[in-house]
Amino acid sequence: MIALSLAEIASVVGGQTHDIPDPSAQVHGPVVIDSRQVKDGSLFAAFVGERVDGHDYADQAVRAGAVAVLAQRPVGVPSIVVDDVQTALGALARHVVRRLGATLVALTGSAGKTSTKDLIAQVLRRKAPTVFTPGSLNNEIGLPLTALTATEETKFLVLEMGARGIGHISYLTDLTPPKIGLVLNVGSAHIGEFGGREQIAQAKGELVEALPEEGAAILNADDPLVRAMASRTKAKVILFGESGEADVRAENVRLTDSGQPAFLLHTPSGASEVTMRLYGEHHVSNALAAAAVAHELGMSATEIATALSEAGSLSRWRMEVTERPDGVTIVNDAYNANPESMRAALRALAAMGKGRRTWAVLGKMAELGDEALAEHDAVGRLAVRLNVGKLVAVGGREASWLQLGAYNEGSWGEESVHVSDAQAAVDLLRSELRPGDVVLVKASRSVGLESIAEALLDAE
Ligand code: ATP
Ligand code: MG
Repeated sequence: MIALSLAEIASVVGGQTHDIPDPSAQVHGPVVIDSRQVKDGSLFAAFVGERVDGHDYADQAVRAGAVAVLAQRPVGVPSIVVDDVQTALGALARHVVRRLGATLVALTGSAGKTSTKDLIAQVLRRKAPTVFTPGSLNNEIGLPLTALTATEETKFLVLEMGARGIGHISYLTDLTPPKIGLVLNVGSAHIGEFGGREQIAQAKGELVEALPEEGAAILNADDPLVRAMASRTKAKVILFGESGEADVRAENVRLTDSGQPAFLLHTPSGASEVTMRLYGEHHVSNALAAAAVAHELGMSATEIATALSEAGSLSRWRMEVTERPDGVTIVNDAYNANPESMRAALRALAAMGKGRRTWAVLGKMAELGDEALAEHDAVGRLAVRLNVGKLVAVGGREASWLQLGAYNEGSWGEESVHVSDAQAAVDLLRSELRPGDVVLVKASRSVGLESIAEALLDAE
């Protein structure tokens, strides 16, 4: 956070100062919305939530070191009072970003935003100081909070942008105008809230509409709805993907014996071999997207390939591979699931499990609408075709479709089972796992299958 005086903050957000003895006092600590995260020099933004009202914690925040509180009413401690704290936070972020010289990179998409953002950050920070969204803090509150952590040293600011409807991305790009905008894919995430894929594309494309002429729109050549966004931007277009016409592309994509993707990275400045530490071939697309951003920011193919080969996961429950002392390997990919990532995870399991017994513990993929039955059936079938040792389908109706797919593809009897809940799966696995087995755990977020992975990693 750069240091700002309370007077300057009040003027930027159009607020009234109350109980402030010294308006030149400076905020230099993080801006936070949770009083427990206050540090010396913080500004505490008091939000009125559904269950708690931040204003009730104003006093506590100031005692913990906050210089003042950004509030919607006077709170008896130093405060800057505004009509709406969210709007004020946004205005402050916009002001700070404008003052700093950092290049802003924003990305959106239906799946892979956090994984790709983590890759971009790990590549760019080799070149210059980089600040990036922690975890998935990608909304109208998390985004300004992240932007406000940038300092004068920051050269690159990498921001994940989420959208649950039309106008959401525009709101975010207005606060933190990106120079580089990346759209990963248009899938079915939140399709219910949007009404259809076209509407999702409409909403995500707001990112490239916001780019300046001297900026760059980085688009997935393999996703027709993303590729079509080229006509919605003034900026230069850079395509990434496996398609031959992509500017940044992968050749000779394969999985290593340990299940990690490897490929020859082509950028307009040359080619270089990448072997990823991350698991799952869906990361090839994410890596190409990151490579396109890094290329645009002046990095060479070799520098990018080295960084991608050394990048790890910075976020939990995404193909997290842990080996137990008894030699059982647990692959926790319970963060989320969609048909593409299910297939990628199963292929990674098959590659890692060569010569070992493999288990796919899978639950429902949410938000698939009319395609739900066919997609679950196809995943069950793929598990059999990849010779996965045993499919354990966990949960209700969708789990029975997974099992039915496996059954119809030629697995019967003990090779696929359907259990009603996570506990039943844990009981089954505890009694049947043997040293050397590999277990993949994956389902949509709402299913919460990480409890299975965690139980298997706890005491046996
Ligand atoms: P959120 O909307 O929850 O913030 P996100 O877009 O940030 O999600 P990630 O957290 O990176 O996405 O990944 C979520 C899940 O999506 C992962 O567990 C993985 O299974 C899957 N995934 C990651 N990258 C891709 C991709 N390129 N294509 C399809 N699925 C992917
Ligand atoms: Mg995310």
